[in-house]
Amino acid sequence: MQKEELKTTLREYMGIIRLSGYESRMAYRFKDDLSKYTDQVMIDKTGNVIATFPGSDPEAPHLMVFAHMDVIGFVISRIEPDGFLRIERVGGISEKIVQGIPVMVGSENGDYYPGLIGAKAYHIQSPADKAKVDPFPSLFIDIGAKSMEQVHELGIHVGCPVTFAPHYVELLGDRIAGAYIDDAAGLTNLLQIASALAEKKPECTVHLVGTVMEEFNARGAMMAARSVKTDMAICLLGPGAGDTPDQRGVNNVVLGGGPGVTLFNFHGKGTLNGNIAHKGLFELIKKSAQDSGITLQRSAARGALSDTAYLQLENDGIPCLDMGMPDRYSHSPMETCDLNDLEQVGIVVTGAIYGINRDFNLHRY
Ligand SMILES: [Zn+2]
Repeated sequence: MQKEELKTTLREYMGIIRLSGYESRMAYRFKDDLSKYTDQVMIDKTGNVIATFPGSDPEAPHLMVFAHMDVIGFVISRIEPDGFLRIERVGGISEKIVQGIPVMVGSENGDYYPGLIGAKAYHIQSPADKAKVDPFPSLFIDIGAKSMEQVHELGIHVGCPVTFAPHYVELLGDRIAGAYIDDAAGLTNLLQIASALAEKKPECTVHLVGTVMEEFNARGAMMAARSVKTDMAICLLGPGAGDTPDQRGVNNVVLGGGPGVTLFNFHGKGTLNGNIAHKGLFELIKKSAQDSGITLQRSAARGALSDTAYLQLENDGIPCLDMGMPDRYSHSPMETCDLNDLEQVGIVVTGAIYGINRDFNLHRY
């Protein structure tokens, strides 16, 4: 797949609403797209979309490459008598970035309605108000309804999903901004990899998987691994770039600088989990990047984790590595990325897949 085709796929995936636990729109679309490249596509009980590309050597270890289909958002926690909706967040969202943004509110019938998170009018704010961040319990959604009854008539109840309204904006150069880049980018890469695998069979069997609930509990991929019994896994999720005025000095990762590989991540806020990249997988990725003349960027950071944290504990241990396209403003309604990084991630992972044979060492050392 060429860059223009990747851009079209990314744009389309960024337009599909899919809160954690409510990924079906994305799942069915992704299943259809993968079906163009293999007839072995299924959706498991948890909702993960699994496409299998059998390898030419049954002795070679199996690889799972995955990206999460779900996005962050909210669920409705209370409906006010006058039709306003109160919310509970799903995934990591800061109060600072949500007031005044457009959202989509789901009903129990599967329909979505546009709404917005109310922001206090400037003119009535006290000087103290202007610098204050309002906590989630005080925020509310306005869908234009006048009463609780009207909201209920639409099928909107407590527990219904809410997400950022999809956006897609082309910035200068090859940069794209909008909601859901996390992880529409990884899904786009999976399609890019699928198109290559359909052309040329690898030695190892490959499972390309769109996973559920990463933003909720980071365990969708763990369930997928139980379905496919993979020997190792690559998670397509890029590190945050450190090249904006507020992030300078945090890390060396820049937008447009090439695929980001996470050597270490750790989430210490109660979770106490993360992943230390498997050395063999990292060597494989390094060699593939070198062969393609692509520069890799390295990341090691606390404060985040991905599905690999739990996936690595399955069976007798699954070697894992996180890598992907770097992004700015992650978990905001306007995440930003560079298409060149996106394209290069797919090239490097595809090259790595063709480098796997029966001699690959699954052990840590
Ligand atoms: Zn995320």
